[in-house]
Amino acid sequence: MTTSSYPDTRLLIANEWVDATGGKTIPVVNPATGQAIGTVAHAAIADLDRALAAAQQGFEKWRFVPAAERAATMRRAANLLRERAGDIARLLTQEQGKPLAEAKMEALAGAEIIDWFAAEGMRVYGRIVPARNPQAQQLVLKEPVGPVAAFTPWNFPINQVVRKLAAALATGCSFLCKAPEETPASPAALFQCFVDAGVPAGVVGLVFGDPAEISGYLIPHPVIRKVTFTGSTPVGKQLAALAGAHMKRVTMELGGHAPVIVAEDADVTLAVKAAGAAKFRNAGQVCISPTRFLVHNAIKDEFTRAFVAHAEGLKLGDGLAEGTTLGPLANARRVTAMAKMVEDAQAKGAIVATGGKRVGDAGNFFAPTILADVPLEASIFNDEPFGPVAGIRGFDSLEDAIAEANRLPYGLAGYAFTRSIKNAHLLMNRVEVGMLWINQPATPSAELPFGGVKDSGYGSEGGPEALEAYLNTKAISMVGV
Ligand code: NAD
Repeated sequence: MTTSSYPDTRLLIANEWVDATGGKTIPVVNPATGQAIGTVAHAAIADLDRALAAAQQGFEKWRFVPAAERAATMRRAANLLRERAGDIARLLTQEQGKPLAEAKMEALAGAEIIDWFAAEGMRVYGRIVPARNPQAQQLVLKEPVGPVAAFTPWNFPINQVVRKLAAALATGCSFLCKAPEETPASPAALFQCFVDAGVPAGVVGLVFGDPAEISGYLIPHPVIRKVTFTGSTPVGKQLAALAGAHMKRVTMELGGHAPVIVAEDADVTLAVKAAGAAKFRNAGQVCISPTRFLVHNAIKDEFTRAFVAHAEGLKLGDGLAEGTTLGPLANARRVTAMAKMVEDAQAKGAIVATGGKRVGDAGNFFAPTILADVPLEASIFNDEPFGPVAGIRGFDSLEDAIAEANRLPYGLAGYAFTRSIKNAHLLMNRVEVGMLWINQPATPSAELPFGGVKDSGYGSEGGPEALEAYLNTKAISMVGV
């Protein structure tokens, strides 16, 4: 079955789904077919003004709802998301392309993240600090920062929202989101779960339109107190600068270029299984996707053969079709970017071990691609591919591999495979990333910090650190008279 119904998406303002003022819409295209399947409303400034007023009103109510009640509402939303995961997955696959099983997993993981933050919101403690004056009492209070403006991308239309939304709501903030125009229906279905769970009007809001116009209006607006963005490093730098000019709190989850260090003593089968699955998940359109495979020269040929076999075992196709393990790229510009990257690597001396080409002429299909003996100056070893292309290079000493891992300005995720504790210690202390997975696949669970260093951004979207990003700290010193 490769067809399914797909709704038009409107704007969510004060718990009502509304058309944009003036009725402007943007088409939504299925990346597996290249066909338009629906539309999304394109907000005008008047709509943003109404959404901002609602966010302010929602915040005034929600901040005073006890944390336990907020948690109960969030858990209801999580349960609705779980119940609806099958239907939501079909929307997600049609607008974004990923295989249906991955889409369903995304919705179910979203429910788990909401549950975790709901519970963690009840553990936002202040503290009592001993005073120098015996008559005084000193308190540290944690308060919600205020209405949040969130900007989320199309690669995980649900989960990129959920991490921000759940942390914001758990702390008592209201949340106004500009979700991706390419993939609007699945985030809309997520927001519907919160409306149906009973959040007061204005606590959540959802808009779409011109990304630059919306961020340019929302970030400086006095109602907005916190900005959170997931997307590319160049856009993140622009938005962080704008937020800085208006002294707004910021979380930036930006691009990555994850190194995979496979040491001489690695379990090669495990390395291929774990890093291979991570590489081609969501067709490589993942900020923590492994990209630079740095493999010890003694095992490089064995690793390359096994990795090629893994890639060639994937089934490329429409995400709704039974058995598909690799979907199309989410938009046509990624196909062009992949073809250019492969051509550039080949011209500089890399070998195409498998793939390297667009597949078919309808939809955005690109073959899973492995490039061997990639020279450092090739674009694939410097720019985030954000697609199903991996590059392999050999190394002789672990120190060289670490130096290469740290060479780029990115510092989001890293992977390493070694049977030696000494090597593992060296890697965990020296690789400049926000997240490092050793001898295992990525496990970005809600309870672990999620975020990067260097050009990959700052702030965290997991663990207690994620709540801190939505809290102000207030010191009180009080003398009873
Ligand atoms: P892009 O840089 O044009 O856009 C990235 C995201 O930012 C999109 O969701 C877009 O709607 C949004 N955006 C762009 N300009 C904006 C603005 N002025 N204000 C607010 N939002 C804005 O790139 P793209 O072609 O959509 O995606 C490709 C690149 O984006 C990838 O190479 C990757 O680096 C990055 N990306 C990263 C993530 C991530 O998870 N960190 C997700 C999606 C895209």
